[in-house]
Amino acid sequence: MNLILLGAPGAGKGTQAEAISAKLSIPQISTGNMLREAVKNGTELGLKAKAAMDSGDLVSDEIVIGILKDRIAEDDAKNGYILDGFPRTVAQAEALDSMGVTIDHVLEIHVADERICARMSGRRVCEKCGASYHVEYKPTKVEGICDKCGGKAVQRADDAPETVLSRLEVYKEKTAPLKEYYAKTGKLLTVEGQEEVADTTKLVFEALGIQG
Ligand code: AMP
Repeated sequence: MNLILLGAPGAGKGTQAEAISAKLSIPQISTGNMLREAVKNGTELGLKAKAAMDSGDLVSDEIVIGILKDRIAEDDAKNGYILDGFPRTVAQAEALDSMGVTIDHVLEIHVADERICARMSGRRVCEKCGASYHVEYKPTKVEGICDKCGGKAVQRADDAPETVLSRLEVYKEKTAPLKEYYAKTGKLLTVEGQEEVADTTKLVFEALGIQG
């Protein structure tokens, strides 16, 4: 199954992608995690992406399409994958189509604007493996330490309140039109993001026809 997760920053795409990945044994492919890794390692790609990421803007289509194309060609993606944070522009969606990729479902996790800022301020991400947490809704067992790999769970630089607002604007302007793009294909499903992670996962599994 090839899936796309759509939704505003902080809607819970990463967390739900992890749940689907564990259930279906297909990889979660997060362009955000790949870019953060590149920035951390100071690679050429990371240097190119850093300024846009820091300001809450999108990294260029050319860069992101390139890394996505390489990633879906890897062995573990042969039986399907969950795209988390890609595509984010119509040009990226068109690039995916022209790669000959068949998408089974596009799942939008909808969360009202007024709830997004609060969700993002409590968000934490593992520096090492990229796992997602939230201080209130999905805390680590030991404060600040990733349950999965023991790495440090930290706040993302771009989750600062001033960057959150510009990321939301970027989402509305450049990414939200993808709902229309995929609605036309009849593949768009929408679930309402709940307070409790497990409640959203239940709705996500139901929408995708996955047994809980
Ligand atoms: P995320 O972890 O998905 O919220 O992504 C973090 C940041 O990485 C975004 O704010 C963008 O700057 C960049 N990014 C991630 N995925 C994409 C994409 N598909 N297109 C452009 N920029 C992206």
